[in-house]
Amino acid sequence: MKGLSDAETPSVRRLLQYVAPVIAQERCVDVLDRFIHEKELLAVAVVDQQQTPVGIVDRGQISDIFLRPFSRDLLHNKRVIEIMDASPIIVDINSSIDDVAQIIIDAGMRHMVNGFIILEKGVYVGMATGHALLEEITHRRQRDLYVLAHYDQLTGLPNRLLFNDRLEQGCRNAQRNHKMLGLVFVDLDRFKYINDTMGHSFGDRLLVNVAERLLATIRQSDTVARLGGDEFVLILQNIESEEDATTVLAGIVDKLLEPMPIFEREIQITASLGMAFFPKHDQTTDGLIRKADAAMYEVKERGRNAFLVYTPTMDHGKVERMSLETQLRMALNNGELSLSYQPQIQLPEHRVVGVEALLRWQHPQLGAVPPTTFIPIAEETGLIVSIGEWVINEACRQHLVWIEQGLPALRMAVNISGVQFKQREFCGLIKRLLEESGIDPQYLELELTESVVMTQAEHAVQTLMDLRTLGVKLAIDDFGTGYSSLSYLRKFPLDRIKIDQSFIRHIKKTPANEAIVRAIIALGESLGLETVAEGVENGEELACVTSHHCHEVQGYHFAKPLSANDFSDWHRRFVSAVR
Ligand code: C2E
Ligand code: MG
Ligand code: MG
Repeated sequence: MKGLSDAETPSVRRLLQYVAPVIAQERCVDVLDRFIHEKELLAVAVVDQQQTPVGIVDRGQISDIFLRPFSRDLLHNKRVIEIMDASPIIVDINSSIDDVAQIIIDAGMRHMVNGFIILEKGVYVGMATGHALLEEITHRRQRDLYVLAHYDQLTGLPNRLLFNDRLEQGCRNAQRNHKMLGLVFVDLDRFKYINDTMGHSFGDRLLVNVAERLLATIRQSDTVARLGGDEFVLILQNIESEEDATTVLAGIVDKLLEPMPIFEREIQITASLGMAFFPKHDQTTDGLIRKADAAMYEVKERGRNAFLVYTPTMDHGKVERMSLETQLRMALNNGELSLSYQPQIQLPEHRVVGVEALLRWQHPQLGAVPPTTFIPIAEETGLIVSIGEWVINEACRQHLVWIEQGLPALRMAVNISGVQFKQREFCGLIKRLLEESGIDPQYLELELTESVVMTQAEHAVQTLMDLRTLGVKLAIDDFGTGYSSLSYLRKFPLDRIKIDQSFIRHIKKTPANEAIVRAIIALGESLGLETVAEGVENGEELACVTSHHCHEVQGYHFAKPLSANDFSDWHRRFVSAVR
């Protein structure tokens, strides 16, 4: 699939801001005035009589002079040229943002704060800040991540996430235009068998062919998506009558039956299709999905290779889906939830400084249900509030148990969902849990994602301040994947940024990732924040983040998430190995 970042990279022109320069002969005291009146000004260019840039002065240099005892009297008449930084970064307005990012990152983090000077045809035209630069490259990266997150890699079709969006939008359109929408579930018959006997590359090729055939049977305004495995869905828009829609389905069943050439063989496949109509069968997208799915299962039960439109007698699938939610409700009381702990290791000396508590659900029949499956359900149903309270409680208790067992006091990080953070009493809850558990607050760290704090930024600033006064630590999780406003980041009282795994993966093979990681570390430094690299899986990734002065790492290279007992064993072994 085509990465969007391969497209042309824009020039620094779009970051340009005109900042009136100062003349090299000006006195420091006059420049001080500028900094006092222009609160947002971080640095200003110094030019000679011909308007050629010769240096840069920043807020720090000027305030240094005026804050030190006596220096005000001694220095304020000095000329700017005597105190300025004479090796600023100067670039042409047509330079690409990526090239400049590389230059800045190589030249050191002070340039990240001060920014750089921009020339056009050799003449000073303004400046740009390092923050603006970083914002630009992370946004571009986010677009790439969007493609990765919304499209299926194998077939290039929209995936479940984008499908959900399209379905919602389609239902809204249908409502507005008084038309029907048809949702169709398509499941290949005996795909697992084909995949197992003919091999995975054969199976992959087959799925690609099926995707092509489905695309060929629908109109432009319709959507084909792949939900995973051999499950496809179609969204048919602007349907005039049920008959029209069933004609389309009959066509698809026939089309799929045509022999399919794959790797010099010919194979015939069949599929089972189930359809439900909006608004007739359900007015909610969730309900519609359940009903189309139920119709598809009915086809399977009746012998496959056909299609059916939903009828209310097919509703048994619903019970099964509902129950994951109900069972999650019971999981807490039945002791099916537990925490695993993954060590966080300080660089470069490899000292264990903390752990992240990660929630686990061991279901009596289903086995281990991954958090990425059940946490969204817990969030949608609000269950995350009570589950989250249990998590904090349990994590604090475990922290104290380890101390009792002779382990050093380790920072305990817990994940906080947006739903919890939004609770009006969130800060009060943390205060109560701290008191009840008896943990020293500085050892409790709350991990919040960017989207949580950014989407409710004003509220977040206040809540974060309140949490800060309790003495707990605050970290931003999965940094780089959400829409961070860097200007807000400066206002948030944070301790740590956790760099998202997607930047760490294959860091050496993806220069853009390495540049972004270095930029985030530099940004962290400039804001006084520590950085943790997440998902470090091998020595190469470790060496790379170490060389860029990342403060801590977490990842499979050192340890997977471990049960409480396994963690204390691991810790003992690790400490004696490092010694
Ligand atoms: P997260 O907070 O970003 O946690 C890190 C995830 O990365 C964990 O997945 C961890 O097992 C995995 N991981 C760590 N090192 C590596 C590595 O080297 N390679 C790879 N491939 N993966 C690594 P896990 O445990 O499946 O948790 C997934 C997510 O579920 C977490 O992401 C977090 O957002 C959420 N979560 C987990 N526990 C809780 C909780 O108690 N409350 C809430 N609200 N969310 C939780
Ligand atoms: Mg986390
Ligand atoms: Mg994370």
